[in-house]
Amino acid sequence: MAPAALSEFRLIHRYFAPLARAEPGALGLMDDAAVLAIRKGRALVVTTDTIVAGVHYLPEDPPEQVAVKALAVNLSDLAAMGATPCGYTLAATFGPGIDARWIARFAAGLARMQKRFAIPLVGGDTAATPGPTAFTVTALGTVARGRALTRGGAKPGDVIYVSGAIGDGALGLRVAQGKLRALSKSHRAALLKRYREPEPRVALGARLVGVARAAVDVSDGLIADLGHICEASGAAAEIAAARVPLSAAGRAAVRADPKLLAAALTGGDDYELVFTVPTARKAAIERIARALGLRLTPIGRMVRGKRGQWLGQGGNVRVLDAEGRPMRFGAGGYRHAWGRD
Ligand code: ADP
Ligand code: MG
Repeated sequence: MAPAALSEFRLIHRYFAPLARAEPGALGLMDDAAVLAIRKGRALVVTTDTIVAGVHYLPEDPPEQVAVKALAVNLSDLAAMGATPCGYTLAATFGPGIDARWIARFAAGLARMQKRFAIPLVGGDTAATPGPTAFTVTALGTVARGRALTRGGAKPGDVIYVSGAIGDGALGLRVAQGKLRALSKSHRAALLKRYREPEPRVALGARLVGVARAAVDVSDGLIADLGHICEASGAAAEIAAARVPLSAAGRAAVRADPKLLAAALTGGDDYELVFTVPTARKAAIERIARALGLRLTPIGRMVRGKRGQWLGQGGNVRVLDAEGRPMRFGAGGYRHAWGRD
C-alpha cells in the first residue's frame, strides 16, 4: 500500500526508478530483486538503519534533509568498516500526511546523496501506515577481503583520533528543539545543519584501511562509541576533554554554557569516525588529513584495561580535565529506554 491517490507501482516508477537508472542490476526496479556483481577479492559489507519520524527526526523537518539523514547514518556505518559504498535499498513506510509533493522532495534528497557518493538505489519496499513515517535503508559496500576495519583491533599504546568536530549533533538537536537561543543565528544554523545533514566520512573510512587498527562511527556519543572499541578490543581509553575538537559553533555554545561540554562528549548524532592508530603511523594520518582537507585530531591513547573498569565514567573510557583529573559523566551517551547496554 502506498499513500492515497498514488498506486504503489506509479509511486515507485515516478520517484524511485529514476534513482536506479545507473545500476543495470537494479533491473529498473521492475523485477523481484536486484542482481549485483562484486569485484574479485572484495567482500560485501552490509548495514541497515531505520529512522522514524518523531524519534530520529522531527516530522516537520524538510523532506530533502530526512532523505540525507536516512542515507548518511548508513553510509557512516560503512565508513566505520572501511567500506566503499556501492548501492542501497530503501524500505519506505509512509504515515498520514505524506503526499506526492513530500515524496518528490524526499527523492530529490536521495538524488543529491547518490550523486555525492556515486551510489544507486537498487531496490526496496513501499508501505503505508496509520503510524509514524519510517525509512529503513540497507547500505551495501565493499572492502578488500579480510581488511575491514572493526571495533576489535585496538591495542594499548594506540593513539585515538577523531575526525571533524564532536558535539554538533547533540547541540544541533537542542537548536531543533528551540533551545540555545542565546547563540548567534549563524552558529545556530550551522549546528542545525550538522544535526539534520550529517556528513558521513566515507572517503576517510576507505583510506583508513591498513592504517587504523580499530574504528567506530559516533552515533551514540563519543564516550559511548569509544567504549565500544574498548570492549571489543579488551582495552581501555584515556582521552583529554580539552583536546576533543569542537566546531566554532560548538565552542561558542560551550563558552556560553560550560555544562554543554558534557552534552558534546556524550551526545549522539555526530557521525564522525573515532579510530586508533599505532604511534608509528602518525605521518600517514597527517597525509590523509591533508589529502581530504579534513581535521583528524589525536584526543588520547588506548591503555590497558578490562571490561567494566571505571564504570560510571563511561565504561572503560576515562576522560581527563585540563588538570588531569577524571571527569564524571552520566550514562556515557544516549541509551534507549529499554536497556542499559
Ligand atoms: P514484492 O511485492 O515482490 O515485494 P514490490 O512491489 O514490493 O514487490 O516491489 C517491486 C520492485 O520495486 C522491487 O524491485 C523492489 O525492490 C522495488 N521497490 C519497491 N519499493 C521501493 C522503494 N521504496 N524504493 C526502491 N525500490 C522499491
Ligand atoms: Mg514488497
